[in-house]
This record gives sequence, C-alpha cells and structure tokens, in this order.
Amino acid sequence: MAVELYNRRMIYRPVPDYHMHTPRCNHATGNVADYANAAIAAGLHEIGMSDHSPMPASYDKPWRMDRSELPDYLQEVEQVRDAVSGQLSLRVGLEADFHPGTEAYVAEMIASYAWDYVIGSVHYIGDWGFDNPDTIQIWDTWKIEDAYCAYFKLVEQSALSGLFDIIGHPDLIKKFGHRPPAGSQRVNEAIEAMLQAVKQADVVLEISSAGLRKPVGEIYPHINIVQRAAELGIPFSYGSDAHAPNEVGHGMHECLSMLESFGIQKIASFKQRQRTMVAIQHA
Ligand code: ZN
Ligand code: FE
Ligand code: FE
Ligand code: ZN
Repeated sequence: MAVELYNRRMIYRPVPDYHMHTPRCNHATGNVADYANAAIAAGLHEIGMSDHSPMPASYDKPWRMDRSELPDYLQEVEQVRDAVSGQLSLRVGLEADFHPGTEAYVAEMIASYAWDYVIGSVHYIGDWGFDNPDTIQIWDTWKIEDAYCAYFKLVEQSALSGLFDIIGHPDLIKKFGHRPPAGSQRVNEAIEAMLQAVKQADVVLEISSAGLRKPVGEIYPHINIVQRAAELGIPFSYGSDAHAPNEVGHGMHECLSMLESFGIQKIASFKQRQRTMVAIQHA
C-alpha cells in the first residue's frame, strides 16, 4: 500500500527547502541571490541557506567557510532576505557538523547569532570523511556493517547533543552504495537506537533528495527509516542539499510522496529556532 502510493508521484504545493550552500564552502556555486531567484522561479515560497559552518581549525578545513567569513555570509543572506521579502521567505541557517570533541566550539558558534535553524550532520567517523570521494578507498578497510553501526551511533549522539534542530541526511553513510548484509540485526538496532534518540530529543529528521543525485540513487533516509520514523511520530523537514542554484527544490515531490505514503501530513518550518508544522498540500 505504502509503496504503491509513493510510486504514484503526487504533485504538491511547495514546502520549505532548508538545505543549500554558497561558494564559501569551496564546493558550491551561485550566490545567495541566485538560490533565491531559482527558488522563486521554481514556485517555492520559503527556503533557508545552510552553508557548512565554521568548525575548529583542525577539522575538515577545505570544505567549509572560515570563521572570519561568517559575518559576510550573514550579511549576504540578510541583504537578499530583505530584497526578496514579499516574494520569498529566506531563512538563515547553518549545516554544522557533529563530531565528538567539537561540541563546545559548535555551541559557542551557534550562540553567536539568531539562526532560524541549525542542521547537524555527521560527515566523519573518527578522522575518516566517509562521504568524500577522495578517501573512498578507506571503505576497503572497513567491514560495511561496522561503518554503518559507527555512523548511526554518531547520528544518535548528534540528536542527543541538544545542539541541533534538524538531523541532516540521516543515512548519508550509504552515499556510494555500500550496503550492509540485508537484514543485519546490528544495523537495524543501531537505526532503532538513533530513531529513539531523535524522538526523545524532539528534533527533526531531514528528508533529503541529495541521495538521488549520488551513486546510491536513493532519497536520504531509506524508506524503511521513514516508515519507522512515521510510526514513532518523528517530524520531518525537507532539504535538497543544493550546491548549485538549479538544485533548489530538487526531488521535492518524491520526498513528499514518500512521507505521505506513511501517513505523514505535515512538514517542519522554522523561524528563530521555533518549529511549526505546516500541512503538506496537494497542488
Ligand atoms: Zn557540501
Ligand atoms: Fe552534509
Ligand atoms: Fe549540505
Ligand atoms: Zn549536506
């Protein structure tokens, strides 16, 4: 039943897209105005910028803005926000990393500005950037099941950290298509523990179309995770994880269709870190 509905690909009124980047992270193109204009052209009413946040100097430096660039990021987003008001609501967010040992830095940075939301993402297991194509060969040194369990444990901790509003691309570990053995009890238990933590912490899971553009070719998170999250009453937000303006709103209908197939009727909206749930509506 659920899968049948999902495949029907309903058309929806646009919902907020809360995940997009700027060139400050050194791997995205288009300025904030370009993203806003792309959103308006695509008929969206609300988006939020979430560029890769500054982190301590030792952490993943090439893939994020420097702390010194933060004022410029905020100024650009605020300027565009004012310029497009009336046409588009532009929220100001960040994609921060969850990495044990950096929590105090991240907490201090988050406290430094009135963000609309903060996405927490896990991109590293220890010092291994598992989603980085440049270090994909490190996968050969891992048992896939172990990598999955380590990843979901970190996502669980990210939810419980109290730092974040949204858990970004919640099964990014599958990005290159590495799969644990079907029905792995260890992985299933790690996913269940992660979801229980998300529920307990009352944070939002991101449903992300980015995986559709990656080797795995699937929405993040997997349909089974969406189903279990729906059973637990966990709220979702939507994100394209656009790294170019033409990716804004990508895969929105597929994502909403998957949510709706499990009876989810609302999606999260954020302003100044206050969450409201808005109805998903058919066009
Ligand atoms: Zn990125
Ligand atoms: Fe990410
Ligand atoms: Fe991102
Ligand atoms: Zn991302």
